[in-house]
Amino acid sequence: RFIEKTIGQVLDMRAECTPNKPALVVEDGIYTWKDIRNIVNCICGEMLEMGIKKGDHVGIIGINSDSWIFHYFAAVKLGAVAVLFNTRFTRAEIERCVALTELRHFYYSRNFEDIRYEDIMEQLLYPKSTVRSCCFMEKTYEQWQTIAKEGESIDIKPSEDYRATASILFTSGTTGNSKGVQLTHYSLMNNAIAMAENMGWNEDDRMLTTVPLFHTFGITGCILAMLHSCYGMLLLQSTRSIDIFNAIQKHKCTIMNGVPTMFLAMLRNEHRKEYDISSVRSGIIAGSQIFPQDYLDICDMFDGIELQPSYGQTETSPCVTICRPDDSPDIKANTVGRPIPGVEIRTMKKGADKPCGINVEGEIQVRGYNVMEGYVANPEETKNVFTDDGWLKTGDLGYIREDGNLVVTGRFKNLIIRGGENISPVEIERAIKEVIGKAEVKVFGVPTIVLQEEIVACIEGKGSEDDKQKIIDHLKGRISGYKIPKYIFFIEDMPRNSTGKINEKFLKNKIIADINGETRKG
Ligand code: ATP
Repeated sequence: RFIEKTIGQVLDMRAECTPNKPALVVEDGIYTWKDIRNIVNCICGEMLEMGIKKGDHVGIIGINSDSWIFHYFAAVKLGAVAVLFNTRFTRAEIERCVALTELRHFYYSRNFEDIRYEDIMEQLLYPKSTVRSCCFMEKTYEQWQTIAKEGESIDIKPSEDYRATASILFTSGTTGNSKGVQLTHYSLMNNAIAMAENMGWNEDDRMLTTVPLFHTFGITGCILAMLHSCYGMLLLQSTRSIDIFNAIQKHKCTIMNGVPTMFLAMLRNEHRKEYDISSVRSGIIAGSQIFPQDYLDICDMFDGIELQPSYGQTETSPCVTICRPDDSPDIKANTVGRPIPGVEIRTMKKGADKPCGINVEGEIQVRGYNVMEGYVANPEETKNVFTDDGWLKTGDLGYIREDGNLVVTGRFKNLIIRGGENISPVEIERAIKEVIGKAEVKVFGVPTIVLQEEIVACIEGKGSEDDKQKIIDHLKGRISGYKIPKYIFFIEDMPRNSTGKINEKFLKNKIIADINGETRKG
């Protein structure tokens, strides 16, 4: 049961079926579905006047806002490709991605006005071209309401090719340069439906959205799932725990999706018991490793409701596997669930021609409608990421249990190779977690001459030499000697990327510089 409609067609159907239902809640008011359709039609009209047409790449950069969502819908309704920029991109990254995606049009919001997008485009791409536009996209709630009234008389026919590219989203850049992932209307829309149906979201729900909208989790798991399930959505620009508690309490939010880091920060917040967050009944937790005890503690924080762990990546729209609401607590705490309908997984050892057996670790590979078309302007990387028989190589490691549920154990790229031994950081992180409780930990390898790599553990928070010794004493009884980190660092502020994940590339470079500095001093 897959939907064969473009995002624009689904938006029009939603506005037709439930025109007066509250859809988007912002600080100053509420937009109904009719308001949204009318505003989107007005923006489409402007885009057409500017010469934007089917297949054109339209860049969008901005904080989570009503204006962002309206411009996203407008671009995809016309059949243009919405290129979603990460708000943490540096100017150099913006330049790289503008060039990569050959942008001709760019919409930006507050905090991003000082970049001369026109200059970048002119310098990099179109010295002679006149077809380009860069517009500030933000308006107040009142201004949008006026536009909604004007839009009543405007009718824009949505594009119909649901197999066409709808969006280009950039990977988080956790391990290297962000790559531009091309996703179709079909893969995004059906992935959203799979998530929403699994979760049982409906029109009585109100979702608190704090995850960045430019990320697949934001597009599919929040905006497009809303089109399908018709829940109301409260947009929050802050990711501070106190603001989240306040918003849930004030607006009686019933759904909250997020990455483990965000939930763990809420859990550690000393004021959390002062707020009533018992209205939350559902949510997806995904994006990085979550340790079983942390998962259980987070569920306890929400009065024992069970969040559904899920696994995926930008390249897969993003959802690949998800826990079902009626799965046992063991499955939810220890696995990321089974594949969603229409999606297959297998695990493969390097060079093998047959998938690994049950409970045997290998690279997780995915096949299905949700897999990307490819990386924009990068045929070589695209070719490398697919097997000859058409499976996407995720670069993640894991195994499939007897009950069909997937356990993610780490990433190929992060495997530590010390003295010829392959070592999974996650095993060491799990053992360290037994001592440090709720604090976050990241383990990785740093290059050395003799053993190729040495193991480093970075723990969030303050700690003494005694604390380090306690951790090492504990590890001695838990893991083999060659897996015990040579270096342990306590770090008060871990570097994070826009989704809240620890930026491993940045952290690793910093630690390598610190270690080399120490060695030189020594
Ligand atoms: P880049 O590819 O640029 O380094 P990234 O891989 O972080 O960035 P995303 O697509 O945002 O880009 O993240 C997907 C990755 O996040 C997955 O490949 C996986 O490593 C990790 N991940 C997602 N969900 C889970 C989960 N439930 N458990 C463990 N890891 C997860």
